[in-house]
Amino acid sequence: MALPDRPLRPATLLVRGGTLRSNHGETAEIPYLTSGFVYDTAGQAEDTFENRIEHYQYSRFGNPTLTMLEDRLCALEGAEACRLTATGMAAVHAAMLSHLKTGDHVVASRALFGSCHWIVANLLGRYGITHEFVDGGDLAQWKAALSKPTAIVLLESPSNPMLDLVDISAVSELAHAAGALVVVDNVFATPLLQKPLELGADVVTYSCTKHMDGQGRVLGGAVLSNKKWVNDVLQPFVRNTGPGLSPFNAWVILKGLETMKLRVDAMSKSAAAIADFLSERAEIARVAYPTRTDHPQHALALKQMSGGGTLVALELKGGKEAAFRFMDALRIIDISNNLGDSKSMVTHPATTTHLRIGAEERAKLGISDGAVRLSVGLEDVADLIDDLAEALDAASPVALAAE
Ligand SMILES: *Cc1c(COP(=O)(O)O)cnc(C)c1O
Repeated sequence: MALPDRPLRPATLLVRGGTLRSNHGETAEIPYLTSGFVYDTAGQAEDTFENRIEHYQYSRFGNPTLTMLEDRLCALEGAEACRLTATGMAAVHAAMLSHLKTGDHVVASRALFGSCHWIVANLLGRYGITHEFVDGGDLAQWKAALSKPTAIVLLESPSNPMLDLVDISAVSELAHAAGALVVVDNVFATPLLQKPLELGADVVTYSCTKHMDGQGRVLGGAVLSNKKWVNDVLQPFVRNTGPGLSPFNAWVILKGLETMKLRVDAMSKSAAAIADFLSERAEIARVAYPTRTDHPQHALALKQMSGGGTLVALELKGGKEAAFRFMDALRIIDISNNLGDSKSMVTHPATTTHLRIGAEERAKLGISDGAVRLSVGLEDVADLIDDLAEALDAASPVALAAE
């Protein structure tokens, strides 16, 4: 039976979207662990390669488990087409390199995930593609940068790690006037809390590693857009360069999606409560959480997001020493550079994820030595707050001495 034509809500789509049952009527989606596919006749193989019939050919090009995940993500995002990749970085790389050519220009927000920053700052130049970084929250800088022809605008909102926002509608409008394709890395918001395509973006990328698997098991990535761009631009690149997702990992992510709304809702609720708790503590100079009224872009958060998300950024007084004391004293929350997991995690961006961009660039991004990123998981929020309170007590002498 096909799903009803009327619009279905996210929780339903996450469980039911894209299910391809075989004639055995199995309950769970099948992980089709096959690299290739066979043809009944030589003629059927020819018809397949001539695009006269639809038949799977090879799992680098397509696979039924990948199709299920692509269809489920399209339904959730409201996108026409999706291609899956082995990692989130392969998704960003494929979205950019499939579209760009020598002589093109890229404008990007400065606050990007480390490897996205590396692609723009270090890789594109090798192919004769120029770039400019802007402060994502400053529309005047976007306007100035987009006064010349641009092939791609790349942005992330909320950004990693300090949760700065970019006005996706306003930047998309400026970008389109400059001829650019707008690519939004929507990992932090998830498709549940922010819909970049509805806001005017052209392409959305995900690391499925984060909230979609959400249980720390597999890596994966996705690129979503309209059918024409995916078929004409992205698909030939993905098919021939081979960054595709393993069907086993696609199956793990499909099962992860079934609980994603429950997890993201619960984790976001805890994150908001934790941000409120942290803001009261004397050891903390600043808490960043998009939907708190003290976030400088609070109004924009309410306009383009339906929730604040699962991450909280905080800045301890007392710099690196206070931050390390705090992190080392946590007994439930793990130290890890991963995020979006059911297990809560903290990371110190200045010495890990943002070490290689250098002190000058970190200063521009507002990443101080006291900054800590917290990814809130599914543990009981009261236990997390107890853990954080004890750890802040441990950091307190250093933090308060710094005042
Ligand atoms: C994790 C992440 C990526 C990269 O995803 P991988 O699956 O680790 O390759 C890209 N962008 C953002 C915002 C991320 O958090």
